[in-house]
Amino acid sequence: MVTENIESFLEKFLTRKSIFKDKKFLQVNYTPDNIPHREVEIREIASILAPSLRNEKPSNIFLYGKTGTGKTLSVLHVIKNLKRIAKNRKINLDIAYLNCKLKKVADTEYRLIAALVRKFGEEVPFTGLPTEEIYKIFINLLDGKKRNFILVLDEIDQLVKKIGDEILYNLTRLNSELEKAQITIVGISNDLQFANYLDPRVKSSLTEEDINFPSYNALQLQDILAQRAKKAFKKGVINEGVISKCAAYAAREHGDARRALNLLRVAGELADRNNENNLSITYIDKAEDKIEKDLIYEIIKTLPKQSQISLLSIFKLYGKSNDKILTGEVYGTYKNLCVSCGLKVLTQRRLSDLISELDLLGIINAKVVSKGRYGRTREIKLSIPDTNVPVLTKEIEAWLGL
Ligand code: ADP
Ligand code: MG
Repeated sequence: MVTENIESFLEKFLTRKSIFKDKKFLQVNYTPDNIPHREVEIREIASILAPSLRNEKPSNIFLYGKTGTGKTLSVLHVIKNLKRIAKNRKINLDIAYLNCKLKKVADTEYRLIAALVRKFGEEVPFTGLPTEEIYKIFINLLDGKKRNFILVLDEIDQLVKKIGDEILYNLTRLNSELEKAQITIVGISNDLQFANYLDPRVKSSLTEEDINFPSYNALQLQDILAQRAKKAFKKGVINEGVISKCAAYAAREHGDARRALNLLRVAGELADRNNENNLSITYIDKAEDKIEKDLIYEIIKTLPKQSQISLLSIFKLYGKSNDKILTGEVYGTYKNLCVSCGLKVLTQRRLSDLISELDLLGIINAKVVSKGRYGRTREIKLSIPDTNVPVLTKEIEAWLGL
């Protein structure tokens, strides 16, 4: 496009009408006040934590359920209310929420405790002190007055994956050192098996109470979507069947509200881009395609170079023969590509490992087959739609500087 055309395109964009009223209501980080189908769970969390308002120590809670089942939202909702009441009535209750998936917060025991110290308004260096020292600072701050401290560790499974479960042992045992203050841990996990892998002592104190968040069914997802869509879209723009199709798609694997919301938002964005006055059902399929593509793209983009070359080799062979590809053939192409990019050529055995990793990521399927006296090899097929191959090939080549 020449410059003038871009300008008029952008001008047109400005005057164009959108089917959205306010997209933020479909964004994942927006916290709605109304939370259908979680009344029971919210009530249960609230009743376990309520004693903190009377200066009694609540039980530790462990919440678990698959992604998008409203765990974070429900806990934040209860916290917000507890904080409001505590403030109005001058109750000594402090609550800290940490998402353990965030980098630089929960990478080491030191960092996590330092983050808590900072929440109490004290500055500490990012590294340097011994871990015991940072614990001392934290305990002194916390124990400065009689109070309840509730520590919410969201995605706690990520924390333990990174640094082990000793920190949880230390945290749950802090109460025996505290004289005035009391600490309560609320752990949230997307991994249903997480608690079973913990040290039994840690498990029993962390899960004094546990609450399971079941996946939503399609009808429940419809309610959730409908409520948020009403605020996000202009009146009457959503065609019949759109919400139910979105809900049905999101319920296919497990009822994931995040997925449902993303699907509806992206569908709306695509319809907007095409200047539609309404959101029709066909856009749900288009959105699903786009989300899937973006996901694959992100995964491949963040792969190490050697893995990208392995995948590129498979893509190149895929263009030549539509049949199954064998590891030996991949190795030939791989070697040439390594030379072109000036990278070290790994052994065929290492390439085979890289191929297994690509299989685990769901990009390809590599089945081990026996070739009689020639031993065993792998037959490789694509697990992603092959319409993506040309674009991805170009992208990988660009990332590798080919
Ligand atoms: P989890 O922590 O279980 O992975 P979240 O609480 O982050 O799930 O929820 C995922 C997304 O779905 C968020 O945008 C949240 O606002 C929304 N959501 C989940 N459950 C509901 C609900 N019952 N009502 C409205 N929105 C919901
Ligand atoms: Mg969450």
